[in-house]
Amino acid sequence: MDTETPACQRIGLFGGTFNPVHIGHLRCAEEIREQFSLHRIVFVPAFMPPHKKQPGVSAQHRCEMARLAIAGNPCFELSDIELQREGNSYSCDTIEYFRRQSTPGSELFFIIGSDAFSEVHTWRRYPEFFEQCGFIVMNRAGVCAASPFNLPGDAARMFTRLDENTYEHRSGTRICSAMVSSLDVSSTDIRTRAACGRTISYLVTPPVERYIHEKRLYRQAS
Ligand code: ATP
Repeated sequence: MDTETPACQRIGLFGGTFNPVHIGHLRCAEEIREQFSLHRIVFVPAFMPPHKKQPGVSAQHRCEMARLAIAGNPCFELSDIELQREGNSYSCDTIEYFRRQSTPGSELFFIIGSDAFSEVHTWRRYPEFFEQCGFIVMNRAGVCAASPFNLPGDAARMFTRLDENTYEHRSGTRICSAMVSSLDVSSTDIRTRAACGRTISYLVTPPVERYIHEKRLYRQAS
């Protein structure tokens, strides 16, 4: 480890389908890193997202595109842990894996959009995973800021509101709402454009665009 890297780090885990990874993902990861003084952000492509239609593009392709997109940013990393595990990609298993891997004292934050957070109660091992790591919830158009008080079951009683944007779990982890630039970009839109042969330039990074063309991905809506 280099001498400037602290042993106890603040680490963001950015899970998603990344089908494909786009500038909206990259820009919000960068803003979150800055706002929350994270040492690094780990992009974790899902092998098989249990809450979404199964992606028509393999996890290996999605992982490779994420690797190309983040290359050159020393604070961004890629993990293929969900590919190694295969089967349904449950975030609770991923969180547990990184908890075990990280140095004691490190802080873990799972980064998700407010659209995804509003469904967090449907995740496996809800609400126990709140003990394992914090959550940074990015405001996304049309979905209001994260509050555990809106979640069903006992979760609300486990949290104390610290301020407008922060809630603390009784285990010490936190749920934080984050304002990020709202880039109106989605993977769905990119897939639709690519399927019609329309340009996807500036929606994805140039290496990702080249990869999509070379591998002939998204030629039909997927
Ligand atoms: P799709 O259109 O296929 O549903 P998506 O880009 O919305 O794709 P994911 O790839 O699973 O979905 O996104 C990973 C995470 O990034 C999610 O938490 C999602 O809310 C968030 N996200 C996606 N696009 C943006 C964006 N433009 N700005 C901020 N966050 C985003």
